[in-house]
Amino acid sequence: MTLIFRQLHDLKSSTYTYLLADAATKETVIIDPVFEQARRDSALVRELGLTLLYTLDSHVHADHVTGAWLLKQSNGSRIALAAKSEAHGIDVPLAHGDKIHFGSRYLQARATPGHTNGCMTFVLDDHGMAFTGDALLIRGAGRTDFQQGSAHKLYRSIVEQIFTLPDECLIYPAHDYRGLTCSSVGEERQFNPRIGGKRSEADFAGYMENLRLGHPKQIAVAVPANMRCGRIEAGDTGASDWAPLRYTYAGINEIDPEWVAEHAQELQIIDVREPTEYTGDLGHIAGASLIPLGRLPEELAALHKDAPTVTVCRAGGRSAQAVTLLERAGFTKVANLAGGMLNWNHHGLPVNSRV
Ligand code: FE
Repeated sequence: MTLIFRQLHDLKSSTYTYLLADAATKETVIIDPVFEQARRDSALVRELGLTLLYTLDSHVHADHVTGAWLLKQSNGSRIALAAKSEAHGIDVPLAHGDKIHFGSRYLQARATPGHTNGCMTFVLDDHGMAFTGDALLIRGAGRTDFQQGSAHKLYRSIVEQIFTLPDECLIYPAHDYRGLTCSSVGEERQFNPRIGGKRSEADFAGYMENLRLGHPKQIAVAVPANMRCGRIEAGDTGASDWAPLRYTYAGINEIDPEWVAEHAQELQIIDVREPTEYTGDLGHIAGASLIPLGRLPEELAALHKDAPTVTVCRAGGRSAQAVTLLERAGFTKVANLAGGMLNWNHHGLPVNSRV
């Protein structure tokens, strides 16, 4: 069965998040989501028409907070994590050998401790892909100097649970700090400078015990938060409360025309089309200020930075650019009218045609 597969990246923590879905049933799992990227991940799930069943964390991370709890709130997904992690709020406590099914596909969890006690590698049903978390990295391995780390355990995990997979099996780690995206079992078995070639357990431990890495900057925040699966007590969920916004994978907040029509009186509506379009066939929204996109940078001073603001154009493209421009200029509540005046007219909402 065809697999939908996406590798997503968080720039700040250099974390890779993976989305896997069964193309037929649309059932989906996300591996190692990042808290700050939960809106992005939800947007991708929605735009691809998928149903998120589970989030899987490879371990209790020390360098970023998981997006598992946020995605559960927005998508109703269940949180899967190794039972050994002893985190609170796990819906599906995983043990070695457990299978996580999505549609006709599944991932199988293999215990690969050493970086932490609860580390797991998730192996795709056909052994074509393995998501190794922080156990095996591309030409590297997860550090073993904190969080119950043990170089000896990690050596055995990698050799017994990962290097026993077929050579062609692709390796997708939770991080890469050089931008490398993918490797394979055969490649790492041969070229990994820490554990590849003829390196023994003692060689590996000697290497890992002398890394002398700095303490992770996020550890004091990330570990306690991840022991709650990323649950926040109250307040900021990353969602905005001034309007029922929809965040897109392209990174723009959108708002539906019906809501704009109902709340037009309270909104600063900025139409960024050209004057001939403003008075043309599609008309314009009553009260919308005409500021063509090219002139917007010079007209910012005349606008209210903290007023709820909706940008409008013909189809929603130029107005998306206007959202980005306004946000960069410090506007706090900005959204793009989804589908522009074409969509507005499609919904039969009232238009003016004169200035
Ligand atoms: Fe880690």
